[in-house]
Amino acid sequence: MAGIPDVALVPTMGALHEGHLALVDRAKSLAGNVVVSIFVNPLQFGANEDLDRYPRDLKGDLEKLPSDVIVFAPNATELYPLGPVETRVTAGHAGSTFEGASRPGHFDGMLTVVAKLFNIVNPKVAIFGQKDAQQVFLVKRMVSDLNFALEIEVVPTVREPDGLAKSSRNRFLNEEQRKDALALSRALNAAMLAVSILEQNKSAADGEIIRSAALEVLHAVPGIQLDYFEIVDPLKFEPIPVDYHGPATAIVAAKVGTTRLLDNAPLSIP
Ligand code: AMP
Repeated sequence: MAGIPDVALVPTMGALHEGHLALVDRAKSLAGNVVVSIFVNPLQFGANEDLDRYPRDLKGDLEKLPSDVIVFAPNATELYPLGPVETRVTAGHAGSTFEGASRPGHFDGMLTVVAKLFNIVNPKVAIFGQKDAQQVFLVKRMVSDLNFALEIEVVPTVREPDGLAKSSRNRFLNEEQRKDALALSRALNAAMLAVSILEQNKSAADGEIIRSAALEVLHAVPGIQLDYFEIVDPLKFEPIPVDYHGPATAIVAAKVGTTRLLDNAPLSIP
């Protein structure tokens, strides 16, 4: 696009892992210059959340990143020089459900810092992970609603060999919790299996059967404190109606010990 710098932006909160690095790889394939932002944004953490214990490792992050990326790692005073922001982006209804219901204000804070990063870095494309499906939905919506002149690219979730979605927060899990955490990806697999069985049997699509298959897996693990498991229409980020056919996203969030984990998987409802 003429006039827009050849820059791809990868916004992160640091404590980088292979999931982040997959975003960086995609960014490199899309633009001549890659900016990785590293900022643990206080605006998107609630009062009782893990802002203080969120892992920070700038030195380790710099070692993990390819030497030709530009790292933008401002501190809070640099990003918010006038103190607490007065002007914010609000995420609207879709920002108050699921993650937004459990973390009030989280998505307003996230969108506000993402909008700032878009304006500071002025990229032609920004890369986000499918791991945070509701975030992707809301960022795309903001780009459309507020006419940001950039594209949003989405990279599939990078997982550990046993299926656990990679996350900066996984380091808080002890051995037992790490095993329990696998219930999230197992539940998503159970949902996918239920879809393929319904399809094979040419049965009517039934969101409840798919949900029950996943919930059975989650409820079988006492260490899982389930927040939600839902099947949503990816175009609305709302639960699918009973007669729904087409692409859907199964989303799950749970606490394991004190660590909140998210995961999701695409489904095709027959
Ligand atoms: P975070 O540092 O957790 O804010 O994540 C920064 C970006 O990396 C977001 O777009 C996330 O969706 C993405 N991300 C985090 N974990 C993964 C993963 N396992 N696979 C792919 N992308 C990820």
